Amino acid sequence: MAFLQNSLKSLLLLEIAQGMALTFSYMFRKRVTVNYPYEKGPLSPRFRGEHALRRYPNGEERCIACKLCEAVCPALAITIEAEARDDGSRRTTRYDIDMTKCIYCGLCQEACPVDAIVEGPNFEFATESREELYYDKAKLLANGERWEREIAANITADAPYR
Ligand code: SF4
Ligand code: SF4
Repeated sequence: MAFLQNSLKSLLLLEIAQGMALTFSYMFRKRVTVNYPYEKGPLSPRFRGEHALRRYPNGEERCIACKLCEAVCPALAITIEAEARDDGSRRTTRYDIDMTKCIYCGLCQEACPVDAIVEGPNFEFATESREELYYDKAKLLANGERWEREIAANITADAPYR
């Protein structure tokens, strides 16, 4: 009897028809895939992506060269040198992050008293060489200018939970 049933199934291609029916039924359901990189999924405001150094709206650097981020970094990825300006304020003369060492723990951002160093929403910063992942101050400030709107919105969204 089983032999007869199996033969009939094979002859009428029933299993193929069932498979095709299942496939076609998905044509009318909501898609669960996104057309990356043209479409992207939502990101949490706490997402820890590429680093950036921020400025105040008047263009002044936020960083006051306190070196807390350098001290807290468990990967020893941050190197800071600083000196006093003519007006007495301290500012960095060098701010490097070795992104090949960074473990994206977010401690530098947590330690910063003025929200200067942050991990922004950018996760598309793959490079072809290691050297491109040695970020200097100019690169970090440029990141800050590029992502300021998103970074400020994320900090505001996360503020009630801090
Ligand atoms: S995210 Fe963590 S490992 Fe990376 S630079 Fe900041 S403190 Fe260091
Ligand atoms: S980025 Fe923040 S924690 Fe690091 S030196 Fe500047 S002010 Fe201090």
